[in-house]
Amino acid sequence: MRVWAIANQKGGVGKTTTAVSLAGLLAQNRKKVLLLDLDPHGSLTSYFRYDPEADSSGGYALFQRRAQGEPQPLHDLLQPSGIEGIDLLCASTAMATLDRQLSTKGGMGLVVADAIKTVSSQYDRVIIDCPPMLGVLMVNALAACEHLLIPVQTEFLALKGLERMLRTVSMVSRSRLGGLKHTIVPTLFDRRTRASLDTLKQLRRDYGDHVWRGVIPIDTQFREASKSATPLTTMRPGARGSRAYALLLEWLEEPELRSSQERLHGTAI
Ligand code: ADP
Ligand code: MG
Repeated sequence: MRVWAIANQKGGVGKTTTAVSLAGLLAQNRKKVLLLDLDPHGSLTSYFRYDPEADSSGGYALFQRRAQGEPQPLHDLLQPSGIEGIDLLCASTAMATLDRQLSTKGGMGLVVADAIKTVSSQYDRVIIDCPPMLGVLMVNALAACEHLLIPVQTEFLALKGLERMLRTVSMVSRSRLGGLKHTIVPTLFDRRTRASLDTLKQLRRDYGDHVWRGVIPIDTQFREASKSATPLTTMRPGARGSRAYALLLEWLEEPELRSSQERLHGTAI
């Protein structure tokens, strides 16, 4: 099981769209995927037609159980997404109160990491959609993941948000053995605009190998897909946006491919 988190301390940069798109592609590849919505706004939850205002039996309950010292299997908190192969831990607006509630309690940083372990035999991939602010939820996501994706909108103002996010990454990296692997994913790219081109150039210049070599283009079909509670990658695999996410997934999976090829090679010798 591999765990990816998607975070940026800025809203509207394509975090939820990235989570949904990668999950859709993985499910098409017959992988079992668990999506965790850790954003109290619950965009991912709403995407699959659950109501973050009405129900707090998902992520909120997970943290409450831990705070009360109760055992915390994860499976009974999960919901079907409506797409075969994808399950969901729903967010609720009540999760916005967790920071205040839990600030005095120690040991709340590994709630998600521990919970994921209880379902590790049932899923191939876990994708965590993060809130746009630093707090107990983001800290949990960063502690639980092996690879962090940071979607960055290709426009000038987005670079400020990125700096903030990267400060968070280096803070977390210091407390983790081997640091925190992270990749910047340029999103909402419009090759007709100077701002998109210049921002991309600046990202590559300033952050080098931490920037994925591709881009996610603007594609209005993402919004249409969200209306039908289906990932665009599932609904229209040939759409520009879908193809871009397919390349991103291929790149993300590459280390695994590479290591299995190395293993094969090793046995051949
Ligand atoms: P975040 O989770 O970072 O707040 P979202 O993924 O919810 O961002 O995206 C914000 C809005 O932008 C949504 O309406 C979404 O459909 C749209 N969007 C995201 N990525 C793209 C894209 N590549 N092209 C066009 N619209 C997009
Ligand atoms: Mg979101």
